Amino acid sequence: MQFDSIKARDDAAIMHTYARFPVALERGQNATCWDADGKEYIDLTAGIGVNALGFSDEGWQKAIAAQLGKLQHISNLYYTLPCIQAAEKLKELSGMEKVFFSNSGAESNEGAIKAARKYSLLKYGEGRSTIVSLENSFHGRTVTTLAATGQMVFHKDFFPFTEGFVFAKANDWSDTLEKLGQQGVCAILMELVQGEGGVLPLDQAYVSAVVDYCHKNDILVIIDEVQTGMARTGSFLAYQQFGFLPDLCTMAKGIGGGLPLGAVLFGEKTKEALVPGDHASTYGGNPIACAGAVEVLSRVSSEFLAEVAKKGEYITKKLLSFPHVAGVSGLGLMLGASLEGVTSRDVVVKGNELGVLTLTAKEKLRLLPPLTISYEEIDKGLARLEETLKAL
Ligand SMILES: *Cc1c(COP(=O)(O)O)cnc(C)c1O
Repeated sequence: MQFDSIKARDDAAIMHTYARFPVALERGQNATCWDADGKEYIDLTAGIGVNALGFSDEGWQKAIAAQLGKLQHISNLYYTLPCIQAAEKLKELSGMEKVFFSNSGAESNEGAIKAARKYSLLKYGEGRSTIVSLENSFHGRTVTTLAATGQMVFHKDFFPFTEGFVFAKANDWSDTLEKLGQQGVCAILMELVQGEGGVLPLDQAYVSAVVDYCHKNDILVIIDEVQTGMARTGSFLAYQQFGFLPDLCTMAKGIGGGLPLGAVLFGEKTKEALVPGDHASTYGGNPIACAGAVEVLSRVSSEFLAEVAKKGEYITKKLLSFPHVAGVSGLGLMLGASLEGVTSRDVVVKGNELGVLTLTAKEKLRLLPPLTISYEEIDKGLARLEETLKAL
């Protein structure tokens, strides 16, 4: 057993901010991976929605290896082609105007929050900087993105926070309208499918009402697509299914395909909000991460997106026939199963024993498989999940 010695070393050296599962993974191929003892698992997590093309994708590896042999980093004081190519792809796929690269979801949200406040300051002066966020949202772990996160459980122990966030009830238009109508609001920040909050999609009518009101009142719409983006929901960005263009959009997780990469996308209104000196990131737009992203982004096509939607429907239908599963929410390959008579953590732990990796989102069992998962892998993973649920 390799595992016991690995765990002992981890215990002695790593700061324990994660409740790790007793699995030490070593290598993988698409949605299949193996631990240090050679046991096989089907991965329905994609490293929390990151490995869009699964493990060890050949094209992605080649793109990165080619860039590795040229230039790994040089700083944003100089022009590099991979960064420009990735931004061009993002523009084409998103319909947005400009891109700022960061390294993570939280860092992208920080950038969008700064851009929204700067836009409002330039146009309206001081005192119009409040951002409405939604209850039950998740926007990151930095002090400001925690302040923007509408789940008080993450707030305890870390006061004081950045000021200027108020929370509206998701899918409750009259409550949201009241918050948007307060003095000094410059933007609303929301996920279209709340991920960490329980894989909860917003209602189309609610989103349309918010977007209409905000456009009429020059309140910026910031969409956090860190989890929903990069084709996860069956469209490149979830807002494309909701039928509008945001003023700012944040991405991370899937776009790097496994390397740290985040992006802020700027729309028509905000494309000139930031000027040299306003914002920066040493690693942002790193040539290797971007070379990989160009390959990830170049896989997105209407056929690819249709496959994501189809696989999502296929998995949903199967899940609904499993014991303890009361319902399935979500979009595309971002799915949450509500459970009866078992906790989501117990399902994940038992699933690990039986060779399938899954996630929780509060009380739900959350599945975020690689977008490239094969039907064979889906069937194998779901058979193990069914076995898991039967055993509990
Ligand atoms: C994961 C996530 C974040 C935070 O991303 P990090 O890369 O961990 O900073 C922010 N928003 C949403 C919606 C997320 O799912």
